[in-house]
Amino acid sequence: MLKSESTSRSGATRSNPPPPLPKSSSSLRAPSSSSNAGGKKPPESASAKHNSTAHSPHDISDTGSEETDLSTSEGDDSSWISWFCGLRGNELLCEVDEDYIQDDFNLCGLPGQVPFYEYALDMILDNDSLSGELDGEEHNEIESAAELLYGLIHARYIVTSKGLSAMHEKYKRADFGRCPRVFCGGQQCLPVGTSDIPRNGSVKIYCPKCEDLYFPRCKYQSNMDGSYVGTTFPHMYLMTYPSAKPAKPVQEYVPRVFGFKLHRGSR
Ligand SMILES: [Zn+2]
Repeated sequence: MLKSESTSRSGATRSNPPPPLPKSSSSLRAPSSSSNAGGKKPPESASAKHNSTAHSPHDISDTGSEETDLSTSEGDDSSWISWFCGLRGNELLCEVDEDYIQDDFNLCGLPGQVPFYEYALDMILDNDSLSGELDGEEHNEIESAAELLYGLIHARYIVTSKGLSAMHEKYKRADFGRCPRVFCGGQQCLPVGTSDIPRNGSVKIYCPKCEDLYFPRCKYQSNMDGSYVGTTFPHMYLMTYPSAKPAKPVQEYVPRVFGFKLHRGSR
């Protein structure tokens, strides 16, 4: 089961370079493009979709050494969830427990927000009963819907105790990136959305030290919909893990001209 599903999944991703949903809304496309930019998938989909011109150094280093091994072994036995969370740009997401997804109570209200809901749910849970009936375009549309559905489930999951714990591990590893502000001294950040409604803005990075928002440094991460994380997560996280909250920054930048501080009025 798993095997054939993941084979068809990876087959579809690879053989349709510019996949999901040319006709759907742009932000529905945004997350799916991040999936195409998968770090563990062949790089052609990433470059074809997003940045035909620019490649980060990360891009280049990835394609060389690891690609062959990963692209052959990756698609074979990993679940859809692991595959999706392993894609480049999706580092901000944790793997949601299947038990959580299988509980209808947790999905309340989502059927109305996600097209092809049942198919999308089947895809996320690796129920491959439908895969034989779908052509390439349908598959892409459903994959896009699955990404949206997973993102919305993820936003709910990461404010549960299990989800917070999973995100805690990622925070400790600095998976969410570090604050670019000099005086924050490389403080680990947390992802946050500026809206809980899909297609209302991309995900941002919150620094718990300076308590400000930044754009993710990785352009693939910038494509992720902010509703996949939501507005509550980082603050709920810091309340749950108070020891993770750093002290306020002690240093502040002082502008100077030839060594002299500037009068407030002249800045
Ligand atoms: Zn900061």
